[in-house]
Amino acid sequence: PELRSLLLSRIRDVPDYPQPGVVFKDITPLLADAAAFGALTEALAAVCVRHGADKVVGLEARGFILAAPAAARAGIGFVPVRKAGKLPGTTLTQVYELEYGSAEIEVHQDAFAPGDRVLVIDDVLATGGTAEASLQLIRRAGAEVAGVVVLLELGFLGGRSRIAPALAQAPLEAL
Ligand code: 5GP
Repeated sequence: PELRSLLLSRIRDVPDYPQPGVVFKDITPLLADAAAFGALTEALAAVCVRHGADKVVGLEARGFILAAPAAARAGIGFVPVRKAGKLPGTTLTQVYELEYGSAEIEVHQDAFAPGDRVLVIDDVLATGGTAEASLQLIRRAGAEVAGVVVLLELGFLGGRSRIAPALAQAPLEAL
């Protein structure tokens, strides 16, 4: 509860970004605060350990910033899930639906050992489309989903129910 209020106090609401009517949760003040970012990294690393994760996935781009130090702190490897066309090796691609149109994310086909338990980290769960697609990629790559952890869940967008089938029994945690 104390950590949560510290973190929330360092997230700024930016109205009408990236479009009119949207309130964007800006985490850059949190990243710039060494105590808050350090405490967040410790908390995320503790989640990795608690779920017995073998790898941490970060979702481009803000997920990278949170997931990479947490993975290093927990003593496990980091795997980027990127927007299409950014990874140099052989990739698996997952298409998912947006409000208007669709998007694609990718992971290296050999990013995981068979049966690796993978924890997904991102900053914000909004509609859940990105997280859902990442879970499908992880399974297609032969790994197991240990869970999803986000800094913030925008509950009114229904992401939790969208990703429930892809999570199967794995947990979704918001800090
Ligand atoms: P979703 O696929 O759940 O609709 O969108 C989640 C993705 O969009 C996440 O990767 C997240 O970084 C980004 N996102 C959506 N809304 C916000 C927001 O208000 N603040 C931040 N920081 N990221 C957002």
